[in-house]
Amino acid sequence: MRIGIFGGTFNPPHKGHKKLALNIKEKADLDRIIIIPTFTPPHKEGKDLASGEHRIKMCEMMFTEDFFTVSDMEISRRDKSYTYYTLLELKKVCPDDELFLIIGSDMLLSFHTWFRYEDILPMVTLCVATREDKVDYSELLAYSKDVLGLGKNEIIIADTEPYECSSTDVRQQLSLGLDAAYMTGREIYDYARLNLLYESPFSEYKRLLRDRLDDYRFLHSLNVAESAAFLADMYGEDRDKAYFAGLLHDIMKNENKSDMLKLMEKGGIILSRTEKANPKLWHAIAGECCLRTELGIKDEEILSAVRYHTTGKEAMSLFDKIIYVADYISAERNYPDVETMRSLAVGNTLDEACLYSLQYTLKSLSEKKGIIHEDSLAFYNDLIINMKQ
Ligand code: ATP
Repeated sequence: MRIGIFGGTFNPPHKGHKKLALNIKEKADLDRIIIIPTFTPPHKEGKDLASGEHRIKMCEMMFTEDFFTVSDMEISRRDKSYTYYTLLELKKVCPDDELFLIIGSDMLLSFHTWFRYEDILPMVTLCVATREDKVDYSELLAYSKDVLGLGKNEIIIADTEPYECSSTDVRQQLSLGLDAAYMTGREIYDYARLNLLYESPFSEYKRLLRDRLDDYRFLHSLNVAESAAFLADMYGEDRDKAYFAGLLHDIMKNENKSDMLKLMEKGGIILSRTEKANPKLWHAIAGECCLRTELGIKDEEILSAVRYHTTGKEAMSLFDKIIYVADYISAERNYPDVETMRSLAVGNTLDEACLYSLQYTLKSLSEKKGIIHEDSLAFYNDLIINMKQ
């Protein structure tokens, strides 16, 4: 028999996997295909990595035709999933069958880095399907000849239109609460949702923000969350908490003024003269009220970071500063000095980064006769006094 071996993380399986398998089946005239999800070390399971058992179940939902078998041989081995050992095991079970190793073109181009790849080659015929438009047939052929030493007849390349999707795309959609069924089929999509696979711990808040913010602001919030988590790791603060505060810092940014005023009034806020005259500052104050009253957030560090992310204040905590700076260095920012800000932020000089952004803000506000909040001046003076001590 001609047997195809198709290994992968399948986290989760998607239509690109299925199309790859079917293309190769036809091109290589295979009788059977064994689907082998790789083992995942238990400590790596989590929001991004579903357990082996879940991935096996989803593979069974994807690969339903009779000629497919889903095998748990790597998962039950509970060890690093080296293809070389898997093939040795298969050779023992079916010594007279011809084996075909099925991979996507991206995997072929790194084949020379696989464990004992020279020993794998005599055991199988490589079967490759193009994955992205970028990689073409002649490039794959050249690689297999020059790097792997394979002749044209020793590798099978299915050069059909690739299905542009990846498990990463599926996971991203799911963690945002967006539809991914078109990539996986409804059954796997529902299975993943019912079992809370790939849900980010903050997905309910992301959904909430998605409703309240425009596209630009939503992406900005996701980016600030990521920068905040990065800085928290670097400066020894709580990563998840920083991500959460970064995510929610602009929650009121797209609300209208009267709604913000109502919320602030409900929260017992009395605006100062400066604040009354400058509605651009309201979203941070109303943001704190929203977190406190509507979302029931009680963590004072998060509330303070959201409240002071625009103006700063005297005696900012490390956590406050992380959110403040994250807002200036998020991925989509492209103001002229952003790279200087980024290098100050990651160069163990968080106070310098705060000062740099304050100098920029105070200067541009004074140039256009804008109102400067007293908290920003207090923040500035505090940084200078501390630096001089
Ligand atoms: P992730 O996005 O998590 O990296 P993935 O979508 O690349 O995952 P894997 O399970 O890692 O999926 O891939 C298993 C095999 O399937 C690999 O050989 C890969 O090249 C191939 N493959 C994955 N997606 C496609 C696709 N859309 N078209 C063709 N081949 C694919």
